[in-house]
Amino acid sequence: MPDRYAVIGHPVAHSKSPWIHAQFARATGEDIAYDAIDAPPDAFVAEVEKFRAAGGKGLNVTLPFKEQAFRYCAGSTARAAAAQAVNTLLLDREQPFGDNTDGVGLVRDLTANLARNLVGVQVLLLGAGGAAQGVLAPLAAAGAAAIVVANRTPARAQALAARVPGVLACGFDALGGRAFDLVVNATSAGLSGELPRLPQGLFRAGALAYDMLYGRDTEFLAMARAAGAATSDGLGMLVEQAAESFLVWRGVRPDTRPVLAALRAY
Ligand code: NAP
Repeated sequence: MPDRYAVIGHPVAHSKSPWIHAQFARATGEDIAYDAIDAPPDAFVAEVEKFRAAGGKGLNVTLPFKEQAFRYCAGSTARAAAAQAVNTLLLDREQPFGDNTDGVGLVRDLTANLARNLVGVQVLLLGAGGAAQGVLAPLAAAGAAAIVVANRTPARAQALAARVPGVLACGFDALGGRAFDLVVNATSAGLSGELPRLPQGLFRAGALAYDMLYGRDTEFLAMARAAGAATSDGLGMLVEQAAESFLVWRGVRPDTRPVLAALRAY
């Protein structure tokens, strides 16, 4: 019997994680089965407990359950504690244990796949939800010279920025007059075809605009292209965070390049 894993979220039918983990398992020879669990918003813990009782070894957690997953865990890694959000559950211990691989996934996509140097750069992080929480400390640790968190609700940006020394926070309106080498869109505005209300002039020469959303050309990426910035969607982050979860569970790091190339070609 293969060891059982799954991604849990709501909705989750669109998730590429089962396909990605099936490719990793085939390439590494690991005997796993990986499914998708659509949990009603009020039934996260019940669904996790059911999966665990049936022998499930681990879960990826996606929208909207990452913060709930952190509270559910009896223990967590330092990076999950810094994020106060969990996207990787280890269920084969006495107590549920949480990790967060979103940050390392983003940093690896930026540095390894997109060949960007993060040391000394000026970073703007848009959003203060679960995804932004997962990537802020890893972006700071990767060597950014300055990071500004801007959010539609400025109080949430302030609460997030306060967790990492030196990070500034504001609303979108207060960004006027500043320019950045890297602008990461961690808002979900693109899901509804919207663009955060951003001022002109955000991109320095050679800047990269990165939208964590994938599978569509967002208003944010179109705006950045028009302003002369290089652009990327979040498909590479998706594959890299999955590879880190696979490593955490199985002790083997899969090669992400063929999987990302196949997804891009699809
Ligand atoms: P979330 O916790 O629901 O947070 C949503 C964030 O977007 C909040 O900061 C919210 O601002 C902001 N927002 C929503 N609609 C907006 C609008 N119309 N204009 C401006 N801001 C808006 O979601 P999340 O888990 O952080 O996910 C954010 C995005 O990242 C999603 O699209 C998700 O698919 C993507 N993601 C991708 C990966 C990957 O591997 N590529 C991993 C994780 C997440 P308020 O605080 O004002 O409500």
